[in-house]
Amino acid sequence: MATMLAVMKTRPEPGVDIREVPVPEPGDGEIRIRVQRSSICGTDVHIYRFDPWSREHIHPPLIIGHETAGVVESVGRGVKNVKEGDRVAVETHIFCSSCRMCLLGEFHLCENLQTIGIDRDGAYAEYLVVPAVNAWKIPDDLSFEIATLMEPFGNAVYTVEEAHVEGKSVLITGAGPIGLMGLLVARALGASRIAVAEPQPLRARMARELGADLVVDPTRPEEEEALRDFFHGAADVHLEFSGAPAAFDLGLRVLRNGGTVSLLGLAGRTFAYDWDTFILKGLRAVGIHGRRIFATWVRAQELLSSGKVDLFPLITHRLPLEDIVKGFEAILQGEAVKVVLTPPGAA
Ligand code: NAD
Ligand code: ZN
Repeated sequence: MATMLAVMKTRPEPGVDIREVPVPEPGDGEIRIRVQRSSICGTDVHIYRFDPWSREHIHPPLIIGHETAGVVESVGRGVKNVKEGDRVAVETHIFCSSCRMCLLGEFHLCENLQTIGIDRDGAYAEYLVVPAVNAWKIPDDLSFEIATLMEPFGNAVYTVEEAHVEGKSVLITGAGPIGLMGLLVARALGASRIAVAEPQPLRARMARELGADLVVDPTRPEEEEALRDFFHGAADVHLEFSGAPAAFDLGLRVLRNGGTVSLLGLAGRTFAYDWDTFILKGLRAVGIHGRRIFATWVRAQELLSSGKVDLFPLITHRLPLEDIVKGFEAILQGEAVKVVLTPPGAA
């Protein structure tokens, strides 16, 4: 039986194991992808550390990883949308096609949603099997290392699109990988001015380099005045990419009456929030889960192919898949933004 290298969670404990496992077979409606590049998401770091969320959601043995791109290597019965040799990125969310939300065309809000690398084997391996409908064909001139970033990039595109930023002033909280992508998207979609609040120095610097008009350290209350001056009092839009309760509060203070907040960051717990101010300011809030399947992908692809957005500067580390732990540690030390992994034998 053919085998492959895979990064696995074999025990309900911190860490990961590199194992030799059978190459998976695609079933009906599924495809096998020869993985060319994968990348590390914040969720994978949670799984690596095995935090309380992971304890609840991750059931070993499991191959982890979900941000990925590769070549379709074999197709199961009934697959029509892709063929062997197609270059693809992968939508992480597996939807059922038959629940109420799927019937409404809101596949990303499927009531039976499953996630690759969490609910079933994932992409940190030489091969990955997924439903064929989860494949997104990429153009020949898009590199696999950019294509693997399309999944988190889609989160950013969706967050920004829902806030309709054209001609508007924007506060971004959290310049992690997705917040930085959100900055690039907000700029490409015509935000008039953009301020970023981010405490981590490397990420704050990158936000400056990627074109933020102002970057503040939210742990320094005196910088809020600079934020207000910058916005001539108040901002039109708040894009929340940190999940930090303090960032929700900052946005609430800085938004103008009638402003919009688009929320992607997850706090992982309940926390107090000043709803009276939210209501009396007449704010609008929208929660963002995943990406629209596939409307967001169409927009994301267009932003990349047109050159309006370049994700290349976000890649700080490139590692062989076997060295994934170095990538996790670099992220935990605050030294990395996007870490791209190459499995053995990939081009
Ligand atoms: P990340 O953890 O790498 O980035 C979060 C950033 O927020 C960090 O750089 C951190 O320094 C910064 N931060 C912390 N406290 C802050 C504060 N008070 N003000 C401003 N910034 C602060 O995460 P990421 O991978 O970029 O993802 C962003 C968020 O989106 C995370 O909370 C993640 O869990 C969430 N997420 C949600 C979805 C979804 O579908 N809703 C999908 C992916 C990720
Ligand atoms: Zn469904």
